[in-house]
Amino acid sequence: MKISQNDLVKAYFMENEGRDIAHPEVVDYVTAEYQRLTNGEKFRDPDRAIRKLAQEVFLIKVSKGVYRYEQDLAHKRSLENFTSIQKKEIFEKDGYVCAKCGKDKKYYPNAEFHIDHIVPKDDGGKAVIENGQVLCSRCNFIKTNTKQTSTGKKMFINLYELAKKEDNKEVLNFCEDLLNVFEKHNVNGHIEWNK
Ligand SMILES: [Zn+2]
Repeated sequence: MKISQNDLVKAYFMENEGRDIAHPEVVDYVTAEYQRLTNGEKFRDPDRAIRKLAQEVFLIKVSKGVYRYEQDLAHKRSLENFTSIQKKEIFEKDGYVCAKCGKDKKYYPNAEFHIDHIVPKDDGGKAVIENGQVLCSRCNFIKTNTKQTSTGKKMFINLYELAKKEDNKEVLNFCEDLLNVFEKHNVNGHIEWNK
């Protein structure tokens, strides 16, 4: 039977439950172990496998490149994933229309749509139909990474205010352009800036 790369990464974290582990340690172990178990095959992109497990909430992201496994937490959080039956129900209830931007599969037959937790799992959101919504892949991506974009937006707002105070037209124009891009794409609309 062929050993799964995913299972190998999982096993390593499970053996080291409760310990914060940085990428290189896991990568070194799984590449060597995979090679040994398969008589020389190469483990493709172990970094990606780790990131994926964190996305699936199997691992806790401690800091950049550092992850930890905790059995109770992993189990509790996995209970809050929507089942495929629930996903189907939410799609049937809301149709293939993005709850954020209104993108409709009717007009974009090749677009991908996701089921999203309205209240995120990390904030205690449950896997119940009422907490599910349909998002297009763009809105889903932005929501997942909203922390990064909101940090960026706040930074440019600060810079914008500073430039206003110092009457620095060049920086002012630069920030204005950037902030308009946020607006144009409806990203982090809840963070306001004074034009
Ligand atoms: Zn959308």
